[in-house]
Amino acid sequence: MNVIPWNYVARVLRYLKPYWRFAAASIVLTVLSALAALLVPWPLQIVVDHVLGKDPLPPMLAKVVGSVGTHKMQLLVLVVVAGLVLALLINVLQVLNNYINTKVDQFITMDFRSELFLHAQRMSLAFHDRRRSGRLIYLINSQGDAPAGLIMTIPLLAESVLTLIGMFWISWTMDWVLALASLAVVPFLYYSVGYYATHIQDRLQRVKSLESESLSVIHESLSMMRVIVAFGREEHEYKRFRDQTHSAVAARVKVTMHQTIFSLFVNMITAVGSAAVLGLGAYHVIKGQLKVGELLVVIAYITAVYKPLELISNTIGALQDRFLSLKNTFKLLDTEPDIKDAPGARPIKRATGQITYEAVEFSYSGRTDTLKEISFEAKSGEVIGIVGPTGAGKSTLVSLLPRFYEPKQGRILLDGTDTRELTLKSLRQQISIVLQEPLLFSGSIAENIGYGRLDASTEEIVEAAKAANAHDFIMRLPEQYNTILGERGAAVSGGERQRISVARAFLKNAPILILDEPTSSVDSKTEAVILEALDRLMVGRTTFMIAHRLSTLHHADKILVLDQGRLIEQGTQEELLRMNGLYRQLHEAQTSTKSRRTHPVHSAAPVPA
Ligand code: ATP
Repeated sequence: MNVIPWNYVARVLRYLKPYWRFAAASIVLTVLSALAALLVPWPLQIVVDHVLGKDPLPPMLAKVVGSVGTHKMQLLVLVVVAGLVLALLINVLQVLNNYINTKVDQFITMDFRSELFLHAQRMSLAFHDRRRSGRLIYLINSQGDAPAGLIMTIPLLAESVLTLIGMFWISWTMDWVLALASLAVVPFLYYSVGYYATHIQDRLQRVKSLESESLSVIHESLSMMRVIVAFGREEHEYKRFRDQTHSAVAARVKVTMHQTIFSLFVNMITAVGSAAVLGLGAYHVIKGQLKVGELLVVIAYITAVYKPLELISNTIGALQDRFLSLKNTFKLLDTEPDIKDAPGARPIKRATGQITYEAVEFSYSGRTDTLKEISFEAKSGEVIGIVGPTGAGKSTLVSLLPRFYEPKQGRILLDGTDTRELTLKSLRQQISIVLQEPLLFSGSIAENIGYGRLDASTEEIVEAAKAANAHDFIMRLPEQYNTILGERGAAVSGGERQRISVARAFLKNAPILILDEPTSSVDSKTEAVILEALDRLMVGRTTFMIAHRLSTLHHADKILVLDQGRLIEQGTQEELLRMNGLYRQLHEAQTSTKSRRTHPVHSAAPVPA
């Protein structure tokens, strides 16, 4: 990366477009501030040379102040008052500029973070599988302020450049030798900025990586709170966080030390320059080429030349942090989602729900043959059961349908059209999903059910809850539909959460339903209540139901039996039982477990009386 990557600067300026009026106002204010700053040393010069000294006022000034110019006391009062007015003006301009800049800064940051957030949501699940959420949060939140940060330094740099030119020009008219001498430091500054910028980047990237890791630890720990408490690992997690943060802090302190030493270096270079100018200036006074008052003014100007020079050097140094944040955030924005609408993809209205898998193959990254040669057909409105040992690929098989992942080979047809030829949005509108772990948002129960269709009325939400056998328990809660759930739906039981998620699926009213072991983590009584609701939900929809308990598949039209990623059997329950294959083994294993539960076998020999 260059010291100033101009392509990033150009790209960042695009975010300023909606706020160009504010930017224009800010430029005007900056120019006014720079002009006002040019006037600051003059009251001092007038006091020294014309009030305390005996020199007459320059004709222009004498004309402006009129007779006051001839009375020293009146002139003194006028100059002091003019100095105060100037200070007031500079401060008012600064307040206005701060207001505008804060507004632009905050809005650009919001826009950029929103863009990052939107893009992160567009990325496929395969992308998110590889990323830690904490790192993504760090990228969006902590690095998302880089464009605004860079834009906000532009007026500062522009003001410095303007001040630099103005001060240099005035110094030149007073003593060009001194003015030129003051610029001798520029090459040193240039090389030190270049050296610093190229050497700090790796360190800064490391700091960012460590800081984002710290956030990942917090994020992961907070979302795993129940496990931490259950295993009593609070101390362990605390130590993990401390150790991680300690490395991040140590690295940040080191980088800050480097930044400070760099500033010190820059300031020393300009200090050497100032000393040289002072020496040379005093020599000119001794030789009678310069008056003492003029020397003071020249010194004041040259100090004012160095200030922007220092500022520009230090700012370019500090900007390296922003440039790295830009590199990281642009990298995310430039990563094309691997699952997106194909060119010419068309939306689908309500599908009938006919689904065909044709020789579908899929592997997660780094794994082989998660699914191999899967072919089957589901007619509209059929219930398709999916069974198989753990890890057989059941969840993966159904997650290919809404294109959470993309098959490596083969195709999936919905109503005869390849799902890749449909827009993602319209495809996903056709599918409701009820997962094993009911995922709910914090917010009210009504909001959670309403998530199924955002424009649903209260009556429709209540209807959906009734159909999902959730209405009665909701009405027993003190706040009923307004009951606020904690994060991930804490505040209601697992079975109740599942009924809320079934109500959500009811409300979505999609023609295809995916049920991924929705009752595996509830007791048999709750299971019966949920299954009853699901039976209602399945009516008229093509349903895929993954189940470990085969009894829940009693009315499946077809059952797919998966083993190690292969579809080894398919047919009705009776057909599969006749086949004498894996399904029959699973069936027999479950029936014998059931009978063991009903008639416990006591293996220990009876104790003689
Ligand atoms: P279970 O009955 O235990 O839920 P399943 O039949 O639904 O299992 P899948 O979840 O589809 O099985 O997983 C199939 C295989 O893919 C397993 O070997 C699993 O380890 C692997 N797998 C699942 N998800 C991922 C992932 N995100 N990245 C990599 N491998 C994965």
